[in-house]
Order: sequence, then C-alpha cells, then structure tokens
Amino acid sequence: MPFTANRQFKSKPRLLSSAKGMYYQSADGREILDGTAGLWCVNAGHNHPKIVEAIQQQAATLDFAPTFQMAHPLAFQAASKLAEMSPAGLDRVFFCNDGSEGVDTALKIALAYHRVRGDAGRFRLIGRERAYHGVGFGGIAVGGIAGNRKQFGAALAGVDHLPHPLNISKNAFSKGLPEHGAELADVLESRLLALHDPSTVAAVIVEPIQGSTGVIIPPKSYLQKLRNICTKYGILLIFDEVITGFGRLGSAFAANYFDVIPDMIVCAKGLTNAAVPMGAVIINTGIYDTFMENSPKDAIELFHGYTYSAHPLACAAAIAALDVYQEEQLFERAAQISTYFEAAAHQLRELPTVKDIRNLGLVCGIELTPQEGKSTTRAYDIFEKCFWEKNILIRTTGDIIALSPPLIINKDQIDTLFSQLRDAIVEQAKG
Ligand code: PMP
Repeated sequence: MPFTANRQFKSKPRLLSSAKGMYYQSADGREILDGTAGLWCVNAGHNHPKIVEAIQQQAATLDFAPTFQMAHPLAFQAASKLAEMSPAGLDRVFFCNDGSEGVDTALKIALAYHRVRGDAGRFRLIGRERAYHGVGFGGIAVGGIAGNRKQFGAALAGVDHLPHPLNISKNAFSKGLPEHGAELADVLESRLLALHDPSTVAAVIVEPIQGSTGVIIPPKSYLQKLRNICTKYGILLIFDEVITGFGRLGSAFAANYFDVIPDMIVCAKGLTNAAVPMGAVIINTGIYDTFMENSPKDAIELFHGYTYSAHPLACAAAIAALDVYQEEQLFERAAQISTYFEAAAHQLRELPTVKDIRNLGLVCGIELTPQEGKSTTRAYDIFEKCFWEKNILIRTTGDIIALSPPLIINKDQIDTLFSQLRDAIVEQAKG
C-alpha cells in the first residue's frame, strides 16, 4: 500500500466503503465526517451527482482515444475551461494523470523551454526544504523531504533547496499570513549570486502553501519577492497548486489569492473533484509561443506525453467538476466560511499539547508538542482515535494535524469536527 506501514495496517485496517457529500461510510458501518476532503481533493463533496452522471455518460460514449497525433473534442473543452479559470496569461494546458506527473511535466517544460530559446545552460532546478512535489524522480529531487529520496540514491543533479518559511518562535498562532519571514525569499537571490550563476538556473518550484509537510503558510509578501527575483534573472517560477487549486483558499488558485502570477501552475486532485485521476500543467502563453516559433518546422515541439493524457473520462469529470465549482459558487462559499473555520480552529489554542495553529482559507495545521518515549507521534494516536472513536477523518504528518474539509462544509459540521478533535487531543494527552 502507498506510504503505509503495511504490516501495521494489516492488524487493524481502516477501510472506507462508500461516501456521500461530507461523509464517508466505514466498512464497519459508521458515518465518518470527512475533515480532509479525502486527500485534499474532493472539494465539491463526495459523489456529486453531476460529476457521477458525466462520468457514466462518457464511459458509454467514448472510452478512450489515442493521444499521440490524435485527440477528442472533450480534451480541448476541458483545457479551455481550465484556462478560463486560471490567472491571466496562463492560457495553455498540458494534461497528465496526477500531481507527480504534473510536476515532472512542468520541470521538463522549463528545461526544454530554455533550450528551445537557445539558452541550454539553464539546467538547475530550485525547490524548498519540506516541499512535497510528488514521487516522480523530478518531484523527489526538487522536493525537500529527504525520507522520500533515501531509499533510491541520488535523484537529479543540479538541484538546490531554499529554506522553508515556517518560524513558530516568531509566528506562532498566526491567523492567515504570518507577519515575519518575507526576507527568507531573499535567500534565493543570495544563493543565485554566491553559489549558482543565475544564468544556469531554469526554474524555481514552490507550493504556495506547503501542505503535506504540515501546512506552512507563506509570510506576507514572500511569494511576491520570489516572483520578482525570478523575473529579474529570467528564471521560470512554477507554483505547485495540487493542494491549493480549486477553491482551497477561496479562489480558483492560490496565484489569484496572492495576486502573484507564476509562469506555470501544476494542478491535479480537485481538477476532477478526485473522481477520476487527472493532473494538468497550465502554462504561460509566451512559453507555448516560444515552442511554436522556435522549434524546427514540422517537428514535435515537446517530446513528452502519456497514454492517458486527457483521458475522456477524466475530461468529462473535469468539465463537470469545474461547472459545479462555478454553479454552486463553491470558491466564494469557501472564502465566506473560512472565518468561522479559522475561529473554530484557534479555540484549540488553550490545550496544553497544542504548540501552534496556522490556517488560510479552508486549510489549517495544528502542531502538537512531541511525546517522549513512545513509538508513535501524538498526532498519529489522535488520528487513530478520531477514526475509530470520534468518527472524523483528519490527516497527520509528524506532530502536525492537517484539516482541509470539502468546500461544502457547514457551520454545524465545523463545530462537530473541532469538538471531536478537541476531545481526541484532550484524551490523548491524558494517556
Ligand atoms: N504536489 C503537491 C503539492 C501535493 O500535495 C501532491 C500530493 N499530495 C503532489 C504534488 C503529488 O500528487 P499525486 O499524489 O497526485 O501524484
């Protein structure tokens, strides 16, 4: 099983057998409130009828169309819809099957873009510590989690990692964007000047909010600074919005929320409301035009693609999901209810084992004090308790609990989520 201690899992498997709206049904018949939108992905709630119907109809109409030198109309419709929703200038789309493929696709496009412009000396890629960019070789290389690399030896050469901007000693219990730490973006410029010749750097990739490693929110003006430095040195900026895309922050993308426009956005998860696997890279028109104008005439401009790029079922699910987001105004809804969510989250501050709470939009991280002398973390014990006893689904990483409910969550459900979680934290602390 993926990222699972298989031997441990076998002894007490956590199984989900069906779902509807805000709830999962466990295999032993309990209703479980979904505090994580599955894995940060079921933004419109589970089994949305419109998305289910679109997939069913598509399965009976066109199951598959070959992708190399062939296409089908839904691929273009899905791309146009996604481009319409994207920040200005990001008008071209390359489809793949998940976030990991999206990241590797974006990195490859960055490297190829510089080459096609005749600037092949740009080979370096820069990520950040504690970044998660999926599990492809590109993704684990620019990702900042050593544990994801150590079983596999060296990944890519020419990669550097900037410091992450989490600073609990200065920013503990920040609501929204932390005040302190924008200057950490300047490390990019100092590294460029002191360590790497800037003309050797192809791209910088960041998650606007670092999700998987514990909800690290960028300090005020940090992302704008990164954008300015990249622009100054001709380096492409890639936002990995696999988690932040499709309403998590109350806007289509974090790029809109921060008003910082990258050269490429990687998205996945909420693109189809997770009903069918799909990822995409949304690309600045100038990058696309460069490939079209500078590649040899009649040549394939980008040697890259997947059998299942723009799979018909995924396209049908994406078109339906993007429609649902718009028709039900789910991004606006998320923005509105996020203040209630924030207030509910910060009420946990008084608990003695809670070390930090950080949040933005409908995502929050609750960091706990470590527990000594036990084989599991406090957060893992709480996750178990929440699943088996409190009937809520939370996510944990190390000593951090992450919550990212579907955007349809209401106030009563927010109350239930946090009161059940509070009880679990209190009970766990008692031992
Ligand atoms: N990037 C980010 C920011 C992610 O959070 C994830 C998955 N959680 C990925 C990439 C990888 O996506 P996938 O698991 O769909 O390959």
